[in-house]
Amino acid sequence: MSDCLFCKMVSGDIKADVVYQDDKVLAFRDIHPQAPWHVLLIPKQHIANLNELHNLELGGYLLRTAAQLATEHGFAESGYRTVFNCNGDGGQTVFHLHMHLLAGRQMTWPPG
Ligand code: 5GP
Ligand code: ZN
Repeated sequence: MSDCLFCKMVSGDIKADVVYQDDKVLAFRDIHPQAPWHVLLIPKQHIANLNELHNLELGGYLLRTAAQLATEHGFAESGYRTVFNCNGDGGQTVFHLHMHLLAGRQMTWPPG
């Protein structure tokens, strides 16, 4: 999608601090980290948000890749948080599906 910020990161038009990528997903550091380790994991194809995710295989792949990245970065035991914000009340500001992966501090509940 030509006017989508995260699609531009997939295409390389906008530089991302890439943590991992393959043919299906891209993971990069959030520009305003909310934890010592804050990564956004996105599908390379444009999907606006969780409401538009119908591909079960891709959804599972995103989850599995998140767990693998957290493990590789040493957070499997200490723990981490995954978040999908969806639309206005969910706090979504970028309308390309992304999973927040946060780790490196004690998280609190409920979220704000
Ligand atoms: P949302 O609020 O949609 O769930 O999350 C969007 C996230 O994208 C925010 O955490 C925000 O900091 C991050 N973000 C927005 N613009 C950029 C950017 O240009 N580069 C990177 N790396 N992250 C961005
Ligand atoms: Zn996009």
